Amino acid sequence: MRIVFLGPPGAGKGTQSQRLGQYLEVPHISTGEALREASRNGTELGKKAAKFYEVGKLVPNEFVVEIVAERLLQPDCRSGCLFDGFPRTVPQAEALDRLLAEQGDKVNVVLQLQIDNEELINRLASRGRVDDEVETIKERLQQYAAWTNPVVDFYQQRGVLCQIPGLGTPDEVFARIKTVVDATPTK
Ligand code: AMP
Repeated sequence: MRIVFLGPPGAGKGTQSQRLGQYLEVPHISTGEALREASRNGTELGKKAAKFYEVGKLVPNEFVVEIVAERLLQPDCRSGCLFDGFPRTVPQAEALDRLLAEQGDKVNVVLQLQIDNEELINRLASRGRVDDEVETIKERLQQYAAWTNPVVDFYQQRGVLCQIPGLGTPDEVFARIKTVVDATPTK
């Protein structure tokens, strides 16, 4: 089962996708976490990527596509995986389709976590990450509107989009997700 999580920063993608990964026993792939790790390790890619994400901009498509392509080749991804924060642009969504098609696979369901802007800013302002400053948060929300909303349309046209209200406790949101995922055909 291949599942994509969509939703603006602060919508709960990280928490919910990790939890769903445990429930389904499949790896959780977070491009944001992979980029932060590359930057901590001082790799070339990490250094270049930090210049973008520290100011709330998306990093270039080829960086994240390379990360995902490598990750998908690992044996633990064979039976399925969850994508958290990827794809964030239409070219990334197209690249993901190609990568999965090479393995005779496809995206089974896309979960769009929905939440309003005021609630988002409150949640983000309390996380304390380097890219969680108010100005940077605003930039990230703008990047989401510009680049990732078209990804929502892309998956809607394919009939795999499922909208999940993101308000409520993490348990309440997870129960909604579980209902959808349990009803999703894997083929
Ligand atoms: P996240 O942890 O998913 O909130 O990602 C943190 C930051 O990493 C984002 O604000 C972007 O700058 C960058 N990033 C993560 N995933 C992607 C992606 N798929 N495409 C472009 N930039 C990304």
